[in-house]
This record gives sequence, C-alpha cells and structure tokens, in this order.
Amino acid sequence: MQSTPNSSVDTSIRSGEDWGRKIRIGILLLLAFLFTAGIGWHVYRLTFENMLGEIRTQAFHRLETYANSLEREIDKYANFPYVVGLDTSLWEFLANTKNERLKLRSNLFLEKLNNRVGSLALFLLDTSGRVVASSNWNKHDSFVGRDLSYRPYYQNVGIDRIERFYGIGTTNNEPGYFLSTAVHEGNRIIGTAVVKVSLEQLEKSWSSAESPAILSEGNGIVVLSSVPSWKYAALRPLDEATRHQIMVSQQYTGYALSPLGMKVRRELDDGSSIVTLPSAGRGDSNLFSTDGLFLTQTRMMNGTPWHLTVFSDLKKAEDQAKIRATLAVLFTAVLMGLMLILMLRQTHLKEILQAREALQRANDELERKVVERTADLSAANARLQQEVEERSRAEQVLREAQDGLVQASKLAVIGQLSAGIAHELNQPLAALSTLSGNAVKFIARGDVEMASSNLERIGPLVERMGLMTGQLKGFARKSSGEPRMVVLGKSVDNALFLQEQRLLRGRVAVTMDFPKDDLLVRCDPNRLEQVLVNLIGNALDAMEQMEKPRILLQAEVSDGMAKLLVRDYGPGLSEETLSHMFEPFFTTKAPGLGLGLGLPISAGIVRDFGGELTARNAPDGGAEFALTIPIYKESERNGATA
Ligand code: ADP
Repeated sequence: MQSTPNSSVDTSIRSGEDWGRKIRIGILLLLAFLFTAGIGWHVYRLTFENMLGEIRTQAFHRLETYANSLEREIDKYANFPYVVGLDTSLWEFLANTKNERLKLRSNLFLEKLNNRVGSLALFLLDTSGRVVASSNWNKHDSFVGRDLSYRPYYQNVGIDRIERFYGIGTTNNEPGYFLSTAVHEGNRIIGTAVVKVSLEQLEKSWSSAESPAILSEGNGIVVLSSVPSWKYAALRPLDEATRHQIMVSQQYTGYALSPLGMKVRRELDDGSSIVTLPSAGRGDSNLFSTDGLFLTQTRMMNGTPWHLTVFSDLKKAEDQAKIRATLAVLFTAVLMGLMLILMLRQTHLKEILQAREALQRANDELERKVVERTADLSAANARLQQEVEERSRAEQVLREAQDGLVQASKLAVIGQLSAGIAHELNQPLAALSTLSGNAVKFIARGDVEMASSNLERIGPLVERMGLMTGQLKGFARKSSGEPRMVVLGKSVDNALFLQEQRLLRGRVAVTMDFPKDDLLVRCDPNRLEQVLVNLIGNALDAMEQMEKPRILLQAEVSDGMAKLLVRDYGPGLSEETLSHMFEPFFTTKAPGLGLGLGLPISAGIVRDFGGELTARNAPDGGAEFALTIPIYKESERNGATA
C-alpha cells in the first residue's frame, strides 16, 4: 500500500511523540537515580553520625579510664624523690661522696626503697650530675659513676618541685619515666634524687582493648603505644632545635623518630578528629586492625605536657551506615521502580484509551459514511430501477408504436392491393351473377342438366373468392411478431398470391429457384409475407414500363441462415437510393404512390427475426435484395407449421 502524505505526517508525529516519551522517561530515571543516591547518602551520613556519637561517648570513657590509671600510676611514684631527699644520711653522703661507708649505706637504702616501691630504679646525683648512689649499685648495669648531667631531670631540677622526663635509659636502653627533685639543705641544692618508673604495665593493659591507644610527650613523640611499632614515632614534624635538644639529652638514643603517618580526614567540633592510621607493624597486625577510619580523642595528662590519645575503629559505624544506606537505596529504588512502572502503566493505559477512542471515532465516521453511501446507493438504485422501468415502458411504447407502424404500413400495402383484389373479385362475382341468372332461366325451362352444370361451376368460383378474402384477411390481421417454424416456399407463395393481379396484369415472369417445401425458417410468417409483398411490390413498381418484366426468387442455406434473393430486372438502384433507401420516408415515387416506409419497416422486421435485409445492384442489371433469416433447426421442430 502506498503511504499517503497524511500517513507520513502521522508517522513523523508518532516518532516525535516516541522521542518525547523517551526523553521524559530518561529525565524521570535520572531524577529517580539522583533521588535514590541522595537518600542513600543521607542515610549513610545519618547512621554514621549517630554511630559516631555512640562511639565517641564510649571512647571518651576509655580515654578517661586510661588517663586516670596513668595519672594514678605516675602519682604513685611522685613523692618518692621527696622521700629520698628527706633522708639526712643521704645529705651526709652527698657532702662526702668518697666515704665508702656512707656510700654503701646510701646504696642499700636506695635498693631497699626501690624494691619496696616497685620502681625501676632510684638513684642520687651529685651537683655535677654524676650518679653517686643507685638502687642497682651492685648490678652489671649499675648507674653509679655515670654522668647524667645532660638529662633534663638533672638540668631542670628544682626545690620542692618534681621534674618529669621520659627517656630511654642510656645505660641499659630501658625506657622509663623519670621523676626528680632537688635534695637541699635550706635553699642550697646538694644533689638530685631521681626515681625511674616503668609504664609498660599500663601499656600492656591497653593492648587488651579493641582499638589502640598512645601516649605522646611534649614534643609529640609516642612514648607508650598499644601498637609496638608506633612507639617513638613523631606525631608531628620535629623542628631542628627540638631534635638537637633530644639528641643532647640522649632521650631516645637509637630511634629515628620518624613520623607516625596518621592522616586527619575530618576535624570534629569537640577537638576529636577522624583519621586514617598507618598500618601496624608485622608483629602488631593480629592485635588491631588499623585499616579504615578511626576516631581519635586526646586529652592532656594533668601536670604534664603529655597527651593521651585513644583510637576507636569506625569500621562498625561505616559498615552499619553502608548496610542501612544500601537498604535505603534498595528500598527507594524499588519504590521508585514501582512508581515508574505505575506511571508508565498509567501513561500506557491513557494511550490505549486514547487509541481506543480514536478507533471508535474512526469507526463511527466509517459507519456514518457507510450509512450515507448505502443511502446514496439505494437512492441511485431506486433511480436506476425507475429508469429501467421507464425505459422498459418506453420500449413497450416504442414496440407498440413499431407494431402500429408495421400494421399501418401493411394496411397501406393492402390499400395498394385493394384495387387489384377488387378487380379480382369482380370477375367471379360477374360470372356468379351470369351463372346464377342462367341457372334460374334453365330451371324455368326445365333444363335441369344445364342448370345443374351452371350451379356446379359456381362452387369453385365461390371457393376461389373465399380463398382470396381469406388470404387478405390473414395478411391484414395484426400479428404478435412471435417467431415459429415457417415453410419459406409457402410464405413466398402467399406473397405472390397477394400480388397475383399485378403479376398477371404486367405479364411478369416469376422464376422460383429453391426447394419449396424443405426450407424451414424461424420467424413470424405474417410479417415475413409483409416483407415479401413489399419487395415484390417494389420490383413490380421498378419494372412498370418494361416489355418483359421478370422476377427471380432464389434461396440458399449457409451458416445456419437461409438467404432469399429477390431480384428484378428493372433500372436498378441509383447511388442516392442505395445510400438512403433504408431511411424512413425516402421515396423516389410520385406523391400518393409511395410513403418511403416499406424498406425501413421491412428491414426492422427482418432484424427482429435475427436476420438482415440488404440491397445491391445485380452484376447484369436490376436490383437484388437479400433477405437472411435463421433456419428452423430440426431439434426445434414440434410439428407446428405455417
Ligand atoms: P416506396 O416504395 O413507398 O417508395 P420503399 O421504402 O419501399 O418506399 O422504397 C423506397 C425507394 O427505393 C423507392 O421509392 C425506390 O426509389 C427504391 N426502390 C425500391 N425497390 C426498388 C427496386 N426493385 N428497383 C428500383 N428502385 C427501388
């Protein structure tokens, strides 16, 4: 089917609508995606912050606990340097450090006190910073005799004041917390009493917690850590002066003090922050996981420049936030999907409804048109019917008119024949009159024989008169025109009989050249005779002035048709006559002698038989009319003859 301009416009409109719909769906999907992502992010943030709050509270408690225990631990030893400084025998010894007895006594005192207290070491420095007595005086790593004047706890020592210092022991590489105070007589410093304590026990207790904790000193060096590899790492970069001071005090001999590598991700408003931690060293890995985010909370230790920091793993918070965010995303996505499906379904339904309405409208329109066309058609049909009826009525009228015309022309022929017939009847009538008059006379004379002979002659005369009037009557009657079996010879005879008077009067020689009884044709005999009477009459008219007029009647059969030739030897047909002779009212005859209807009516009659009437000039002179009529087939024979 060819697409009409309308349908191409429809297609382009439809494809435009398709694009519009696709863009709408695309925008909706994008919005749904953004909305879902927003929900996910929001839920993540909310959950995370919520969990963070909880974790922060727990971690704060841990920080407090650690700090308290650390402070307690340190405070436990804080008074021991004073105690040492109060011992007057030590004053004596410090005044005379060469005295072996006093030295032994001092060493033993310090050893005993140290054992009692549980500190790592207790020792006494003279004013030059040299160790003069020590609790480990008799151990291989004895401090006695060592010059510790470079240590801050010596350099910064004061009266009635505790100096604190964390450092690695230069003798035994043992880390420790040093607390020192001046031994004095009045305001005169005569020496320094130092206690070295270990904080490793505390450090060990931190390891049992799930997340790490560190203690950093004033310079930001980690001195205690639940992750061993972080120990002696720097929380912040060390400036040159600090590095120098550390080096001089031999605080962390043998340690590089490299940066810890903790990265702050987010500062929180309460001073805590979210960080990522450096990975734990080999040996530490099974203690804590240091991957992911950690919350750090720091607090300063009372009376020290130290900071205690606890880390809390935020993995749980992250995981929880992720799970909730995923669930929220899934839920929202499903909800969005359902809404989208619902919307699309709604749109689809709307489209279907619109399409159905359009279809309904088209259908209604079609039905309306069909009704209209049907009405038109039935009106046209009625008109046609009317026309057909009018036509058949007209045909009927025409036929009746034609029949009337045929009859009229026949009556005209009869009119022409009437003179001859009257003449023909006159003879037997005169004979009858004579014979009957004579018969009366013979009877009166008693000559019965003669009278009887006269009367006998009357019979055939009356018979002939009856025959003549019978013929005329038969010819004059109005025939139906219905075809039937006709013996052609008989019709020719009848026609010749009707024209007999003229033939006799003109001494016309009539030659018939065909089997008289055998040639059967299919037509109306009365009308055939009318045609023949007309043709013979015309031939007689044409040969009126001739010496030896002659009419030749010939017949032959070919292709189911009988062809009868009526030929005369008159002047023949002129050019004009040949071209107009079958037209009504064409005549060359004088007014009153011809109407010019004979040939056209004859031709019409023959056409009604299914045959044809033609005319030509015979090669050897005269006019020749050819009359073709269908022959009557044997199969049609039903015994009826005319
Ligand atoms: P009508 O005899 O009344 O004139 P027709 O129709 O029978 O009318 O004939 C028309 C004319 O055809 C005649 O007037 C005549 O001129 C010509 N015609 C007919 N038959 C013959 C004939 N056999 N020979 C010569 N002319 C003829």
